[in-house]
Amino acid sequence: MVITSEIMDRLVEKNPGEAEFHQAVHEVLTSIEPVLERHPKYVKAKIVERIVEPERQIIFRVPWQDDTGEVQINRGFRVEFSSAIGPYKGGLRFHPTVNLGIIKFLGFEQILKNALTGLAMGGGKGGSDFDPKGKSDDEVMRFCQSFMTELVRHIGADTDVPAGDIGVGGREIGFLFGQYKRIKNVFEGVLTGKGLNWGGSLVRTEATGYGVIYFLEEMLKSKGETIEGKTAVSSGSGNASIYTVEKCQQLGAKVVGMSDSNGYVHDPEGIRLDTVRRIKEIERGRIKEYVEEHPHATYHEGWKGIWSLKVDIALPNATENEIGREEAELLVKNGVIAVAEGANMPSTPEAIEVFLENGVLFGPAKAANAGGVAVSGLEMAQNSQRVAWTFEEADEKLKGIMHHIYTTASEAAEEYGAPGNLVVGANVGGFLKVADAMLDQGLV
Ligand code: NDP
Repeated sequence: MVITSEIMDRLVEKNPGEAEFHQAVHEVLTSIEPVLERHPKYVKAKIVERIVEPERQIIFRVPWQDDTGEVQINRGFRVEFSSAIGPYKGGLRFHPTVNLGIIKFLGFEQILKNALTGLAMGGGKGGSDFDPKGKSDDEVMRFCQSFMTELVRHIGADTDVPAGDIGVGGREIGFLFGQYKRIKNVFEGVLTGKGLNWGGSLVRTEATGYGVIYFLEEMLKSKGETIEGKTAVSSGSGNASIYTVEKCQQLGAKVVGMSDSNGYVHDPEGIRLDTVRRIKEIERGRIKEYVEEHPHATYHEGWKGIWSLKVDIALPNATENEIGREEAELLVKNGVIAVAEGANMPSTPEAIEVFLENGVLFGPAKAANAGGVAVSGLEMAQNSQRVAWTFEEADEKLKGIMHHIYTTASEAAEEYGAPGNLVVGANVGGFLKVADAMLDQGLV
């Protein structure tokens, strides 16, 4: 950190209290130090100082009325981080823990992730501290309409294209799109993750999870291994987790645990995904209800306990910093051979160190979970051409993109002196693409 430590110090001083943002930037700066040493042109043009400062940050009031008629006020965010290689692109998160630091960490990660896909997408992220849990459909609609009434001024199919994230699925995207269209009187691909009969892409729903497993396959292949016959756990039981588990099972692994923010279920016979989907996607219930239908399975309070299960493959798909040093050490002790991150930044720096020191194959989020945004990019392409590809076409493209990401990251790791370290590879691979575009475009 010779070149970047001063930049890091200034960033912490200038953005106090944004711990997750500091963590995300620190990891990237550590990885790209050898790039800066080899290419002083990036240092001279202050590419790093520029890339860590969002191009634009919007914070706004979101007033709405609940079903009892009471007025509620939430805070909305959109951080338009980088448009170096395309329109700002990244999801919206609705969760009570959302604050500016969280949105900035996600937006910053998104810049490099989007670059790695090879598609023309810049980086952005947004959301609100609104909690959709326990709200009626009408309340969620009123909130989304109010949120979009402000957001509409800042986004557009060629400017900024939001999508889903925690708490924002098909229902929310529908309400947001409806309000955008009503205000702008334009039917365009301004959001991704849309319904299939109004501009959505096949495979978008499955893309994050399927992509994680395609990436995992690539990592295992490098060691002459496959997914078939392995045991796995996947934390969370939302979009990322459900489709990670689906693909994992299709490829012959046995997934023995899933969780939500209250606790986890352990099903030694293999998780019945149809039950999880019904509980979480249709009834919007809790994962503990699983054991009512499958009494041989057990439910345990506390979501971190899932990492104590003995498995070959760990798939964190819930939220940031869900695996710390202790959980990583437990996984290693229990013989884990691979970790592929579906959630954003789910492993702490200490946990990553434990995995790398112990020779565990480690797929960092930026690379492993880029399938979601990649198919969002494909959705944008289909919207622009007013065409719709088949499931097979979109899935093949997703597989090709995940292969490209793996190759880019592993080659960059090799080239910059960290063979096999995909954290370094993903950071360097993404950075180079964005940095070169910034150099080409002058001081903007
Ligand atoms: P969902 O809202 O569909 O599901 C989130 C799941 O994680 C739920 O089971 C939720 O439990 C659990 N969870 C959320 N917050 C916490 C927490 N603080 N502690 C413990 N469990 C928690 O979100 P997604 O599946 O879309 O997102 C999951 C992760 O994947 C996030 O990190 C997101 O950024 C990342 N991601 C998602 C993409 C997408 O396309 N959807 C793309 C790339 C990354 P509960 O139901 O109890 O809240």
